Amino acid sequence: MSMSPATTKQVAADAKRKPTLRYLLENTSQFVVAVELVTSRGLISDLAEQRVLRHARALAESARIDVFSITDNPAGNAMLAADTLGADLRSHGQEVIIHLACKDGNRNSLQSRGWKLSSEGFDNILALTGDYPKPGYGGMARPSFDIDSVGLLAMYSEMNRGLLDEATRHRLKPTNFFLGAVVTNHKRYERELVPQYLKLRKKIETGARFIINQAGYDARKDDELLRWLALSGLDVPVIANAFVLSLGAARAFNAGRVPGVVVTDELVALAEREASSPDRGRSFFLDLAAKQVAIARGLGFRGAYLGGQLDLADCEEILSRADKFGPDGWKALAGDVNFAYSDEFYYFERDGTTGLSSSEVNGAPVASRTAAARRRARLRTPVNYRVSRLAHWAVFDPEAPLFDVARRFYSAVESAPVSARKVLHLAEHASKVPLYNCKDCGDCSLPEVAYLCPESQYAKNQRNGPCGGSHDGLCEVTERECIWARAYERLKSYGEEASMLDGPVVFYDNALRGTSAWANTFLGRDHTARSAAGQEDVK
Ligand code: SF4
Repeated sequence: MSMSPATTKQVAADAKRKPTLRYLLENTSQFVVAVELVTSRGLISDLAEQRVLRHARALAESARIDVFSITDNPAGNAMLAADTLGADLRSHGQEVIIHLACKDGNRNSLQSRGWKLSSEGFDNILALTGDYPKPGYGGMARPSFDIDSVGLLAMYSEMNRGLLDEATRHRLKPTNFFLGAVVTNHKRYERELVPQYLKLRKKIETGARFIINQAGYDARKDDELLRWLALSGLDVPVIANAFVLSLGAARAFNAGRVPGVVVTDELVALAEREASSPDRGRSFFLDLAAKQVAIARGLGFRGAYLGGQLDLADCEEILSRADKFGPDGWKALAGDVNFAYSDEFYYFERDGTTGLSSSEVNGAPVASRTAAARRRARLRTPVNYRVSRLAHWAVFDPEAPLFDVARRFYSAVESAPVSARKVLHLAEHASKVPLYNCKDCGDCSLPEVAYLCPESQYAKNQRNGPCGGSHDGLCEVTERECIWARAYERLKSYGEEASMLDGPVVFYDNALRGTSAWANTFLGRDHTARSAAGQEDVK
């Protein structure tokens, strides 16, 4: 029986198909090499995308590259979808990670996209919240941020178990996603860094099976990431980001043009000096990446993630230079990848011998956690925060002494005339506007964000922890203090910061917008009641 040309091509691709990322990370101890690809704007047949395609196919010739990781509208710009390039690479036997960001689509479109990706054989998904959109066709796009990376992980994990179709009450065929997530661990302050770690824990508990960290150039911070995971009892493979700088990239990162990526003044000055050399700094930049790869392998990362529009020669050069450091040579390199702020916060103390991280928890935050220090910090928290906590404890918590009274009252109001309900809703809103700048979303998350409103004070409205975009504690969009950093400080004064993200994954219900959040709480219509019901189901 003769095969069609298309079938012959597929059989050939299958014969030389690379091992899956899941297999490599879960069944081998191989140090994995991932290379990032960025699509262009326009059709795959356009000149620019044909260049990307040729570039990707050339890279695919390398036996050292295990997986290609394709970005999703990076930095908020519209680009060709990752799976269009991914399909071509897969047809040539390559392993692909598809980045999937929540900024451009709501939960329905992400679910639909998930079925499409799974049907086409794309199992490796990197779940991201995503960068805030940039101006596009006809002006600035309205960002979606309907769910975040944690919500996406929860939804796709459930799809892996076989989603229950509410309409037919049938379980849908399970998807086979191998889910990954990102941690932005190169943060300057405690109030930014620790919430990133806590969100990482939430991502892993929600279904992330591999982690890639955001680019940064501080080996001690990377060492610390693995130590924090070990301390927290979290065993998940982490792939270390070794984004290869150029002078332009260093300047862009230093200026904060790519949210969450840190290049200090010291590193950008060094990049400027090196870029004035005859090779325009190429050797220096490749060497820096090679050192990062060698350190990552030595520290116990499960792979390296090479970004920065590299060609095959660059990749081979980085990997062969990294190999030359030998199994122990990496220990002497920590001082060469040590670009941190002078006031950079670390979770662990410095190891004086290696210049990397020790396993001893940093003494400064320990001192700030004494009872006396917390009492002093509590006095500095806003009065409305303290009053809100009291009100929650007395009325709004389902275990509160007055919760049942309030529930009966709101039940009675349900059968009252519409005008009475409207008056009550108006009174609620009038009290919450001056206190929280309430936007009347109807599904209130104030208790989860230390009484800071995610609808009015957070550009991405996220309810499951901070995105990675803050810089120096400030929001990437508004330049105001990140509400999750503020929430961390508020909770810390009460000794509650470590459990900041311990609650169930929050999915905001848009059906409740413009209705009374208090009525929805007391009558079991908001996300807190749905979470409790979900937990009962699990039991
Ligand atoms: S009801 Fe919604 S908009 Fe109002 S304070 Fe709560 S979270 Fe913010």
